[in-house]
Amino acid sequence: MGQMIKNFGKEVIEYAKKGAPNVNKNQYKERLQTCNTCEFLKKDLMRCGKCGCLVEHKAKWATSTCPDKRWRQVIVGRDGKKVKIGREAHSKWKNKQDEKGLTNPSDKVQPTDSKD
Ligand code: SF4
Repeated sequence: MGQMIKNFGKEVIEYAKKGAPNVNKNQYKERLQTCNTCEFLKKDLMRCGKCGCLVEHKAKWATSTCPDKRWRQVIVGRDGKKVKIGREAHSKWKNKQDEKGLTNPSDKVQPTDSKD
C-alpha cells in the first residue's frame, strides 16, 4: 500500500510540475478502454493493480504513463495542454524537427540566384 501511495504521489507531482496538462477526450477514452481490458485493473475500485493509481484520474493526466506500457505515448505540449517554452528551447526543438524532416519545406526561406 505504501508503494502505491508513493507511485500516485509521483504522478501527481509530475502532473503539477508540467502545468496540469490533460489528454483530449479521445485519448482519455482510449486509455480507459485499454484499462478495462487489462488483467491488472481492479474493477471494483477502478484502481490499477500494478501502480495502485485510480485509473479514472490518472488517465486524464497527459504526464501519466501506464506501468505496463499499454497506453499510447502522449507528448506534453503537443497533444496535451500547451506549455510555454523559452526561445532557446524552441530553437532546439525546431532544429530537431528539421533534422527529422518534420517541418514543411515551404516554411524555409529559399535562396534566390537572380537579382531583380
Ligand atoms: S494503467 Fe496500464 S497496467 Fe494499469 S490497469 Fe491500466 S492498462 Fe493496466
